[in-house]
Amino acid sequence: NVKDKVVLRFAPNPSGPLHIGHARAAVLNDYFAKKYNGKFILRLEDTDPKRVLPEAYDMIVEDLEWLGVKIDEIVIQSDRLDIYYKYGEMLIKDGKAYVCECEAEKFRELRNRGIACSCRDREIEDNLYLWEKMLNGEIKAVVRLKTDLKHKNPSIRDFPIFRVEKEKHPRVDAYVYPLMNFSVPVDDHLLGITHVLRGKDHIVNTEKQRYIYKYFNWEEPEFIHYGILKIEDSVLSTSQIYEGIKKGIYEGWDDVRLGTLRALKRRGIRPEAIYKIMLNIGLKKADIKFSWENLYAINRELIDKEAKRYF
Ligand code: GLU
Repeated sequence: NVKDKVVLRFAPNPSGPLHIGHARAAVLNDYFAKKYNGKFILRLEDTDPKRVLPEAYDMIVEDLEWLGVKIDEIVIQSDRLDIYYKYGEMLIKDGKAYVCECEAEKFRELRNRGIACSCRDREIEDNLYLWEKMLNGEIKAVVRLKTDLKHKNPSIRDFPIFRVEKEKHPRVDAYVYPLMNFSVPVDDHLLGITHVLRGKDHIVNTEKQRYIYKYFNWEEPEFIHYGILKIEDSVLSTSQIYEGIKKGIYEGWDDVRLGTLRALKRRGIRPEAIYKIMLNIGLKKADIKFSWENLYAINRELIDKEAKRYF
């Protein structure tokens, strides 16, 4: 079910270099783009100023090039804030989203009982007025999307799509930032993404993002969720790695305990071995335990094969 021209994307947050857990998404999206003569977009998702590491932008590009991924286009979300604001405002004007000034705790408590907070009934003009104040940094509030207050999963009930951040962003000057469940579908649509290949951990996000397609009347891309790669004995969340580095627990991004691609490179792992192992795992729906032994074995095979060419 492949459309005329496939467009795929890999969308990491620039909060550190890539680790082996990222490699699967990068490899699969690159593989399908190449296979169907399509396009591969690297989208750096930096709309959470707290989680941006300025060096990470370049590190991610370097890591992908090392891995053998061909990047056709790079999109940086912080360059696109005005686009998100424009689409956000359309939803507010349409009565599909509202500014919520409730305390998170209070909102959650009501939401869990399936009850709307009073912000939900505010007039559209008043919402637009408050939205303007958010953009100017005059109030701290969130914009919520109207969904189904009785949805079986409470986190989907009127979820936030914009918030005001206190932290300064290293690249842009702004108060309001979109949350991923807004910026991701807006960009996937505008960039013409045809296939969204990502892990099962995004299933709930997909469900949230579908509201955005519905409200704008956009055609949905194909959503494909593969099983989770379980990697033991390594710290694989970028934010966890970052904390550890700041505390001095790890030597740096190429500490081999971290499973970052640069650390594996330092250990003599060939990028082709990583690419191959990720392709072998492919789009399997079941969760799967990643085996370092397997990676080392494939790496040795590759090196032996190369050696035979010379001796
Ligand atoms: N940047 C998000 C993440 O890394 C979104 C990824 C996606 O939609 O594929 O989790």
